[in-house]
Amino acid sequence: MASDTRTLTARAAEHALTTLALDLRWSWNHATDPLWRQIDPECWDRTRNPWTTLNTASRAHLKMLLGKPAFRRAVTDALAAQAERLHQPTWFGRKHDASPLSCIAYFSMEYMLSEALPIYSGGLGNVAGDQLKAASDLGVPVVAVGLLFAQGYFRQELTSDGRQQALYPFNDPSLLPLSPVLTEEGDVLRIPIHFGQGPIWVRAWKAVVGRATLYLLDTNDPANPPGVRCVTTQLYGGDADLRLRQEITLGIAGWRLLDQLGYQPDVCHLNEGHAAFAAVERARCLMDRLRIPFRQALVIARAGTLFTTHTAVPAGFDRFPPGLIGTYLAHYVEKRLDIPLDTLLALGRADPNDHGEPFNMAWLAIHVSGAVNGVSRLHGAVSRRLFAPLFPRWPEREVPVGHVTNGVHTPTWDSIEADTLWTEAAGSERWRGTQEGLADRIRALDDRTLWTTRCQARAAFIHKVAATYAERQGFSGDVGLASLPVPALSPDVLTLGFARRFATYKRPDLLLHDPDRLARLLSHPEQPMQLVLAGKAHPADLAGQALITRWLAFARRPDVRGRIVFMTDYDMAVAQILVQGVDLWINTPRRPWEASGTSGMKVLVNGGLNLSELDGWWAEAYAPEVGWALGDGREHGEDPAVDTAEAEAMYTLLESEIAPAFYARDGQGIPAAWVGRMRESMARLTPLFSANRVVRDYTDHFYLPAATRYHARLADGGQAAHDIVQWQDRLDTAWPELRIASVTISGPEGQRHVAVALSLGHIPADAVQVQLYADPIDAGPPSVTVIPPGDCRDSDGLTHYTLTTGLDRPAGDYTVRVIPARSGIAIPLESTHITWQR
Ligand SMILES: *Cc1c(COP(=O)(O)O)cnc(C)c1O
Repeated sequence: MASDTRTLTARAAEHALTTLALDLRWSWNHATDPLWRQIDPECWDRTRNPWTTLNTASRAHLKMLLGKPAFRRAVTDALAAQAERLHQPTWFGRKHDASPLSCIAYFSMEYMLSEALPIYSGGLGNVAGDQLKAASDLGVPVVAVGLLFAQGYFRQELTSDGRQQALYPFNDPSLLPLSPVLTEEGDVLRIPIHFGQGPIWVRAWKAVVGRATLYLLDTNDPANPPGVRCVTTQLYGGDADLRLRQEITLGIAGWRLLDQLGYQPDVCHLNEGHAAFAAVERARCLMDRLRIPFRQALVIARAGTLFTTHTAVPAGFDRFPPGLIGTYLAHYVEKRLDIPLDTLLALGRADPNDHGEPFNMAWLAIHVSGAVNGVSRLHGAVSRRLFAPLFPRWPEREVPVGHVTNGVHTPTWDSIEADTLWTEAAGSERWRGTQEGLADRIRALDDRTLWTTRCQARAAFIHKVAATYAERQGFSGDVGLASLPVPALSPDVLTLGFARRFATYKRPDLLLHDPDRLARLLSHPEQPMQLVLAGKAHPADLAGQALITRWLAFARRPDVRGRIVFMTDYDMAVAQILVQGVDLWINTPRRPWEASGTSGMKVLVNGGLNLSELDGWWAEAYAPEVGWALGDGREHGEDPAVDTAEAEAMYTLLESEIAPAFYARDGQGIPAAWVGRMRESMARLTPLFSANRVVRDYTDHFYLPAATRYHARLADGGQAAHDIVQWQDRLDTAWPELRIASVTISGPEGQRHVAVALSLGHIPADAVQVQLYADPIDAGPPSVTVIPPGDCRDSDGLTHYTLTTGLDRPAGDYTVRVIPARSGIAIPLESTHITWQR
């Protein structure tokens, strides 16, 4: 196809380069790398950033290149390939073309797409960025919204005495791979919103991520007061006041932007509670469009909203004093939503009548969503516990939080060596479909192929570590590094990787629990290990920073020289180097505080193995055939004795199982047992913990049902939503009248007769369901059987329900309960009433 295309003119080719450099697909597909290298080899090698390379290259050199037919031909081909890709059939197009799902709006405070767009801190941004890329691969129609931080998250340097320095380089939007969002007339698009009384202007920038689009908002419009201009300066800096204004910008200005640009999303996906105001503003847009009140509009918006929660501790939820909400939102709530401020405040509270309760963004997110999920199986269970206060008297198991375990965008994290291996085994389209048969193709690979690839990747890694290290040494500020020699890691030594945010719950010091024992492991004469570390501690987290200092002091011990490297400024580029090269990835969070964790997933495709606490994703991924586990799968709080025991267990594992497995070589020099684990880990876990699987799960199990429910409520000017509001009001008023008058269970075993009489008061009989309930045995599901209505109301005003059934448990295990029932509405999410037999 490309050969038929006419070669572009110099001017058109220059334009084409701009188009290509603005498509962040280059962050995971390297087909255009040679073009950029030709434009400016030095800048390219240093940044790997096409946009910077294109914009800072010498104009004369570029002009000379554009004068060469061969170069123009290459640009022409690259542009044609891009266009062709956009028209290729996709998984979504094939499977869901006729579905009601046409657009998903995805909201997140941070996105980790490339270090060329440094607007992320860690895991949350990783999930958002990798899902956006997978949505592009699969053709799932996502439009994403975030904030453009002028300084992003802090960058790290280390002083000579091992202290962390936080730096805030400026992100000049014109040097980032973004374009300003303009109106149809070509003017800068301004989104007016209110912080309190004052109107302010929000600007927007567009990032292209393959088929997907990401809009980034910022408040740094010179027309705004200085305090407002700084709202989008730093990610996770500042106080509650700043955080609230960021969340208002993200949610309210974000949804308004989509509306102004003509998007009509069926589904809104809130990646963490930060973005929950988006659903509120979505309701406001519906109010205007349909001329309906806020509550009815919210009932419509809610059906099409999904909330993904990411924290495992209550302290992870953003909470604001009610007064602060009043300061910034009273005007919006009273004038635009046309409701009293208290009505909004109630949406952010567990108990709507407790006026002292702070405004909790996670509670708000629950109250504006039609579905909720955690990010691993274990985290789903933990979240049900955290959200239980919102569903009083419901069993914790039935708190409406499901889970979709996270995954990573495999093409972003694989090494060149791994990419080659997988392409040969499974073809170049392997991450763009359903991944069927992938595991078997990897299982068919022989030991030698796998081991050779692993050794090549390790050698490349060691080279990159030394090069990165040497390059950073050159920067005078980085004296922490400058005072250390360039590390001489060895290509044959078992290589461990350990990198994370230095937050206490991650226990970044567990491996350092007994420094002498660790030193002996590293410098073992026959079975040595080498360790590459990286990590940042939040500038306000002094305890975390002290741990970095401890690690650096350890790294200077003469007996571990050449066996340990601390790489500064843990970012996406450093993470890529690490996960591609290491043999073993170590993760030591305190269960159950790692909601999912993703860094360990990044080593899978590369043939790295995991040694991790049974927490987050590893609690469901671990099996002895694929890696090693720490901990007993239970929770122990912050018990120091448990930390000691787990550290000891980790050293013992490393010493007596892991190192021996790595160094036990067969006649061909291959560690067969190690390679066996690699093969099974790659085959079984890579597809499962991929963003490809995640995005397909979200699409099939959340987005599609949400879109259907949303359209049902939107139809006829929102009639169904109007009826739901009336139904909810009626239940709220009349529920206290409901009484379970009598329950009898009679008859022989296997033929039990259950009879229930209810006094319904003013509740319509079809608004409730009567159930026979028994608590779960072990971890199984509870037993829930519907008891259908029998006779209508009899002369005593009672309604009767009867059931004849074989119960498989003793009658005493069962209890009767009554819950709201209505088709097309989520119970207990949208009506939390429940009455139990006493
Ligand atoms: C993957 C990644 C994370 C998230 O890792 P976890 O420790 O598993 O939460 C954080 N930061 C960077 C730079 C990453 O690449």
